[in-house]
Amino acid sequence: MLSPLDLIFGLFSLDIGIDLGTANTLVYVRGKGIVINEPSFVAVEKRSGRPQEVGARAKEMWSKNPKDIMIVRPLRDGVISDFEITQAMLDHLIRKAHEHLWVQIPRPRVVIGIPSGVTEVEKRAVYDAALNAGARQVFLIEEPVAAAIGAGLPVTETRGSMVVDIGGGTTEIAIFSLGGIVISRSIRVAGDEMDEDIVQYMRTKHNLLIGEPTAERVKIDVGSAHPLPQERTATVKGRNLITGLPTAVEISSIEMRDALSGSIDILMDTVKQALDDTPPELVADLMESGICLAGGGSQLKGLADRVQDEVNIRAYIAEDPMTCVARGSGRVLEDYNNLRRLLVGIERGSTWH
Ligand code: ADP
Ligand code: MG
Repeated sequence: MLSPLDLIFGLFSLDIGIDLGTANTLVYVRGKGIVINEPSFVAVEKRSGRPQEVGARAKEMWSKNPKDIMIVRPLRDGVISDFEITQAMLDHLIRKAHEHLWVQIPRPRVVIGIPSGVTEVEKRAVYDAALNAGARQVFLIEEPVAAAIGAGLPVTETRGSMVVDIGGGTTEIAIFSLGGIVISRSIRVAGDEMDEDIVQYMRTKHNLLIGEPTAERVKIDVGSAHPLPQERTATVKGRNLITGLPTAVEISSIEMRDALSGSIDILMDTVKQALDDTPPELVADLMESGICLAGGGSQLKGLADRVQDEVNIRAYIAEDPMTCVARGSGRVLEDYNNLRRLLVGIERGSTWH
């Protein structure tokens, strides 16, 4: 039953989609688009354990290395453990989303993308934190489902489709058919692991010590998963492990394929296994529709070609791959009747049935 209050809220409803990613947190406001895009960092005061700053400002503090502040990346491994920190992040995000509005609409409806495979306790923590942060209604959706909706895949239709969302901490694969998920896989191999591969490679092959931020830049610049039409080179600066002196090393995209092979092989195996478990009729559908890649990691050079080569199905990168989850989460409320069955249930006190 709709109460008069609901009708009034309905008129001035604020619907937001939140992507709590391991690397980046995004907020999509219906009718406005992406209004927040910040790194998933929280600065916590060591003594009190209280969150002080969230997002880009927390990341800035991180580089300055303050001694009474601890920097937490609460979602790094795709799980949210600390309730207070999750709460602080959601408070910050919902308040900031309001700053983008002309009219102050008090209590938004919120759809939050969470990694698939989170525990009941974690789901509950996110759900409660969002309610405490002032949401009127809270819905949870698994990230690959949100990514697929954001990428425009026909998830409510009979015909099959497939998404591979490669983030910082996790890669999530989902195959859809008959309006639901048929196969899903989640592994903790994604962008961060690639950065670690590069750190290791530089250390063992070039005696060069580099940090993760440098490794990430190298990955974005010359990282590759497949021979490129034009191979690239970059200069990597670090500390020589033997002499202890600052040193610069030239490195190519060809070498980077070797460096990244550990992570990329695992990724390819997981894609293949998911397809192996897929009923043949559905594989035939996927040969038509292709495999959609989303998330920041999907932009690794040559990755789509590599997938295509390995599984013999066309692979392509979604439009604006880093915002798919946030946009997809936001869209759920626009097409609620069709998409509600793809939402995640909460055991007690659920707002959907
Ligand atoms: P999450 O959903 O986990 O927050 P994102 O989808 O925001 O993750 O993707 C972040 C990851 O994408 C990081 O590991 C980052 O290094 C990687 N990334 C971003 N751009 C590129 C690029 N052009 N090439 C390769 N990796 C990239
Ligand atoms: Mg993500």
